[in-house]
Amino acid sequence: KKPKNHILVIFGASGDLTYRKLVPAVFDLYNKDLLPEKFAILGVGRTEFADDEFRTKMKEGIQEFANTSKEKGCEKNIESFTNKLYYYSLNTKEEAEYKDFKHHLFQLDEKLKTDHNFIFYLATPPSLYTIIPEYLAKQGLNIEDDGFRRVIIEKPFGYDLQSAQALNASLLQNFAEDQLYRIDHYLGKETVQNLLVTRFSNGIFEPLWNRNYVSHVEITSAESIGVGNRGGYYEGSGALRDMLQNHLLLLASIIGMEPPALINSNSIRNEMVKVLQSIRPIKEEDVEKHVVRGQYVPSTIKGVKVKGYRDEKGVDPESRTETYVAMKFFIDNMRWADVPFLIRTGKSLPTRVTEVVIHFKHTPHHLFSEHSTIMQQHNQLVIRIQPDEGLLLKFGMKVPGSGFNVQNVNMDFHYSELSDDYLPGAYERLLHDCMLGDATLYSRGDAVEAAWKFVEPIQKAWVNNPDIPVHGYPAGTWGPDIADSLFEDEHLSWRYPCKNLANDGN
Ligand code: NAP
Repeated sequence: KKPKNHILVIFGASGDLTYRKLVPAVFDLYNKDLLPEKFAILGVGRTEFADDEFRTKMKEGIQEFANTSKEKGCEKNIESFTNKLYYYSLNTKEEAEYKDFKHHLFQLDEKLKTDHNFIFYLATPPSLYTIIPEYLAKQGLNIEDDGFRRVIIEKPFGYDLQSAQALNASLLQNFAEDQLYRIDHYLGKETVQNLLVTRFSNGIFEPLWNRNYVSHVEITSAESIGVGNRGGYYEGSGALRDMLQNHLLLLASIIGMEPPALINSNSIRNEMVKVLQSIRPIKEEDVEKHVVRGQYVPSTIKGVKVKGYRDEKGVDPESRTETYVAMKFFIDNMRWADVPFLIRTGKSLPTRVTEVVIHFKHTPHHLFSEHSTIMQQHNQLVIRIQPDEGLLLKFGMKVPGSGFNVQNVNMDFHYSELSDDYLPGAYERLLHDCMLGDATLYSRGDAVEAAWKFVEPIQKAWVNNPDIPVHGYPAGTWGPDIADSLFEDEHLSWRYPCKNLANDGN
């Protein structure tokens, strides 16, 4: 499907994101013939560039970072695509400069016949996320009487509840909610669609997907690398803000949601936000009981010494920023009452994996327990999100031979077996969706606020109560052992998709 003719205006066009991700992603769309016939990118920034200089710079970015730039015969396409790039120099903080900018934009629109449709992408420091939309609106560039006007806002969307509310309020003074596209590129479109199909098109799963049959739900997002060179940024963020507040709660809301009335952006997002609004708040005084935070410490992995977080560049040697967080919460609604949701995320863990595990309840009667030497395990449905998307069903079978020994066996499906078609990158899909006016994969304001509201008492408890420990865990292990205490049943623990790597630590 092709979007309507339009101009994509990128604020912060001299920056890293534009160079490495945005322009290469738009090029991939062009290369797949998914852009409209009349289209242009207008890069905006304080840095002075002539159109030609901007084109040359972006060409390098495309050659290095676009998924499709190495395809045969691509050089010609790169050339014709870069001719669609323009640049306008503007001091984004100077309101007075926006009048000329508007004039320039309409001139370009007139020349290229792009039908007065504009997308404004804010790839600038977050401090400008309120200023730019305000100055655009003052020039009437928010009014959709003659074409569409959309604003894409990069992450982070606030750093706590108050700042997210203030940002939403400011944006909504100038643009309507359906003109706002808040980026969250953690789950690709394919994954979200897959989760919806797995849940809602299978007669064997949907009837079991509730408190009657599910014992608990486990969500893990692990990274095997540490913070590397991003220590300075990470110090002001931490695992709770960087991963849990946005990405893991988004995933939990898709796993927990009711079937949407329709497969469209608002129906799906309506159901997702209801889950977030139903999560039982964790009180500040209960945070220590329900949430475990950790920080990786030096270790040795396969004979190689690995740094601890506090030794990373840009990190305070006494830092208490968490690189790991695990928590238990409940969704207080008809479907999930009293079913624990356990979620964890961390850096420097043994592998890179994102997965959801639905643990089913035992059969009401253990018919074989007398005969079996092996304890009956929960049946599990493991939904692997990355790196190798697929489903794994673990269930009990009789061990061949005499007696009734039961063992867990695996039925394993890899999504890649279905097709090896080209799968577009996250920015490519998201940009194309915005061009088409589909906001399903973008965060809605109420969902962002609901997620911040849930994490707020945790942020406060960690600030107000310095006695809440930051548990060290050796880099290359599955986080602090104490995270197992979040399970109510002492026989249960987190699933370990692979073994600990570190063979020592301190
Ligand atoms: P960057 O390299 O620092 O670029 C930001 C651009 O904003 C600069 O090139 C700068 O261009 C422009 N800008 C305009 N007014 C500015 C001002 N008053 N002060 C400073 N810069 C100003 O940042 P980036 O990595 O491209 O990231 C842009 C946004 O995307 C950030 O909010 C970041 O959090 C988010 N993000 C980035 C990535 C990534 O991979 N890079 C990933 C996720 C999210 P001029 O100096 O020419 O005006």
